[in-house]
Amino acid sequence: MEKLMHVVPPEYAGNTFSQAWQNVGALDLPLMQRLWATWYAYFQNDSLATGLMIFCVHEIFYFGRCLPWMLIDVIPYFRRWKIQDQKIPSQREQWACLATVLLTHFTVELPQIWSFDWICGMFGLSASLEFPSFITICYQVAMFFIIEDAWHYWNHRALHWGPLYRWIHKMHHKYSAPFGLAAEYASPIEVMILGLGTIGPPIVWCYITKNLHLITVYVWVILRLFQAVDAHSGYEFPWSLHHFLPFWAGAEHHDEHHQFFIGNYASSFRWWDYVLDTNAGPKAKADRKFRAAQKAKKLQ
Ligand SMILES: [Zn+2]
Ligand SMILES: [Zn+2]
Repeated sequence: MEKLMHVVPPEYAGNTFSQAWQNVGALDLPLMQRLWATWYAYFQNDSLATGLMIFCVHEIFYFGRCLPWMLIDVIPYFRRWKIQDQKIPSQREQWACLATVLLTHFTVELPQIWSFDWICGMFGLSASLEFPSFITICYQVAMFFIIEDAWHYWNHRALHWGPLYRWIHKMHHKYSAPFGLAAEYASPIEVMILGLGTIGPPIVWCYITKNLHLITVYVWVILRLFQAVDAHSGYEFPWSLHHFLPFWAGAEHHDEHHQFFIGNYASSFRWWDYVLDTNAGPKAKADRKFRAAQKAKKLQ
């Protein structure tokens, strides 16, 4: 079993980042790989370096992506694109949400993220200085998106079953008009169940193929965070991605889930809800009623 050890040999270690940066210069690497090598050369403890990086990636990109949405919420100009335009989250609501999300990150997710390196070491994830090609990153991330979406659809749908909803999922539905920060506002059990859809696919893929680099996992996690925050943003623009990629879910899709509560269970794509006839909203409901009536007529 390959372990995440000695990404950079000890002779390149440095006591400061700049010293490590200078030392790994001798390896003559492209910029990204040199930054990567510096990080590992500085820590000289690959588990700590990976765990800390995953945690930082999560915090920086989650809150970094939430910030523009918080600003948009206070600028009246953008109100025209707000999906539920009468429901602007108050600053107080947003700060309360932020405090809960931060608490969850530090108490529930930090230990899980820390164990990620250990799990990946067991399954042969590579953290080497040899990065995969752009094409490899793209197809692997695309595959993780498809698998996560399926996982999310079924588990989220199950979480809407009475007892599970009351015990677990109700917390996430506190906001019927969501906003970016609310993406990870959920019970710790829900974070674990749905979070498995994000970390599970890379682990299984790695176990089967032994062909996965940690940088691909970072790209995947960042894009998945963007998807989750944007889906909760509450804004639908003429340039939103689903206008160009009709199967992309986006904010419109998930906002309706929060608004109407039933339907639109998938995360990234629209196909599961379309095929299994679980689209949300009054129009989808009327269509379903109409089709059921037609079917009943035929049977008579
Ligand atoms: Zn739900
Ligand atoms: Zn949601």
